[in-house]
Amino acid sequence: MKRFSVNSACPCGSGKKYKKCCAPLHKGAFAKNALELMKSRYSAYAISDIKYIIKTSLDKNLDESELKEFSKKCDFQKLEILEFIDGESEAFVTFKASIFCDNIDNSFCEKSRFIKKDNRWLYVDGEFL
Ligand SMILES: [Zn+2]
Repeated sequence: MKRFSVNSACPCGSGKKYKKCCAPLHKGAFAKNALELMKSRYSAYAISDIKYIIKTSLDKNLDESELKEFSKKCDFQKLEILEFIDGESEAFVTFKASIFCDNIDNSFCEKSRFIKKDNRWLYVDGEFL
């Protein structure tokens, strides 16, 4: 994303400035639920904060350089939340991500699964719809 600053609109689409939206989560605050975590992960992809993606994934064997390359070559245009199923220790978020990579439309819908571990929500896996 070009010329992004803390005063820019948050990439998650909340309508708030980044510094008042996903920035505190990227700096270490715990997401209060899986939906908030999902949005902050989308924002992290948009600004190439891959450390945050890894930190909030259950799978720690992610390829950081591969994720970085993906986030850099793609333009994360829009996030739409279609469904949120909350739970005590497991939750699901269905969303549509509008993403263009090298000017090709790579938009997709996914139902993501999250679990709460040591009081922190983590991304587990997702199912393409
Ligand atoms: Zn945000």
